[in-house]
Amino acid sequence: MNFLTAMTKVGIPRALLYYQYYPMWRTFFEELGVETVLSTPTTKAMVNSGCSRMVAETCLPVKVFCGHALSLVDKCDYMFIPAIRSMGKRAYNCSKFLGLPDMMKAVIPECPLILDMDIDVTNGKRTLYQNIYSLGRHFTWNPAKVKKAAEKAWECHLAYYQQMFSQGLTPTQAIDEIFSEKGVGVDQETANSSLTLTVAVVGHPYLIYDDYINHRLIHRLQTMGARVLTPEMVDEEVLDVAMTKLVGNPRWTYEVDVIGAGGYYLEVKVDGVIGVIAFGCGPDSVMMDMVYRKAKRLKAIPFMCLTLDEHTADAGLVTRLEAFLDMVKRRRREQTCV
Ligand code: SF4
Repeated sequence: MNFLTAMTKVGIPRALLYYQYYPMWRTFFEELGVETVLSTPTTKAMVNSGCSRMVAETCLPVKVFCGHALSLVDKCDYMFIPAIRSMGKRAYNCSKFLGLPDMMKAVIPECPLILDMDIDVTNGKRTLYQNIYSLGRHFTWNPAKVKKAAEKAWECHLAYYQQMFSQGLTPTQAIDEIFSEKGVGVDQETANSSLTLTVAVVGHPYLIYDDYINHRLIHRLQTMGARVLTPEMVDEEVLDVAMTKLVGNPRWTYEVDVIGAGGYYLEVKVDGVIGVIAFGCGPDSVMMDMVYRKAKRLKAIPFMCLTLDEHTADAGLVTRLEAFLDMVKRRRREQTCV
């Protein structure tokens, strides 16, 4: 049934795949005349509430997602939590993504109706279009309107990735630019002009761009004098090549952000590479190990793996970053003297 009114609101948790797909999702709903409500950046209260509903073994990003969803419960009429199974041939997402809508239904019984669209491109375009249409049917009976909304959303998604790649922006900066949430353009050249080292940070976007769970990692590196590069700043085809070189065909959907980006940055002579993973994450522990082995083989660029969980403290993280950057600087001095 179509209950679309001026007040209809869809909640989008600012966690997990938000960093990859928010502009596309928001455009789709807005084209259908629906208002989207985004949760605020992660807070301690969100992490605590998420942890209180999930079993302890769950990885931190899913606990954080639960906290974001809880914060939206009384602010929206629907909650958008898709089950993203596969975004490429024979590469599948981690099981947490597959079961995310069901998990949230189980632990948040007070949640508004969850829009739990299935996304699995291996089932073919026809199934994908049917699923998009079923999602749109909550708000309109007009298939042409849904089709137009989906096309606009896809255009926005491509422009978003192009913007990050061409201007060297992080997802947060690109989202601010697209929706003018802060209304301020980012001059990357000026921002980077005083930074003397170049450090690549690789990992899932929900780990490297959530300032609460990574303890403002990027900001800290910049204040310590490092220009930070991330996976979105490299063309996806280039990352695909780097990943294939290291492990062949991908098995996990987002392998390119970890293995592709890690393999690529270890070869382009940045000063150091930091891999970020979540404690208890099966896929990441295997993927980051591939990057670590490559770093060990090449012996050219210092590599450090940071494992985050809800108990990670600021002081421990800062000490590790300082020690890592000291090693990077020493390595650079030695190379200059040779
Ligand atoms: S890939 Fe790892 S960190 Fe991400 S949701 Fe799955 S288990 Fe959690």
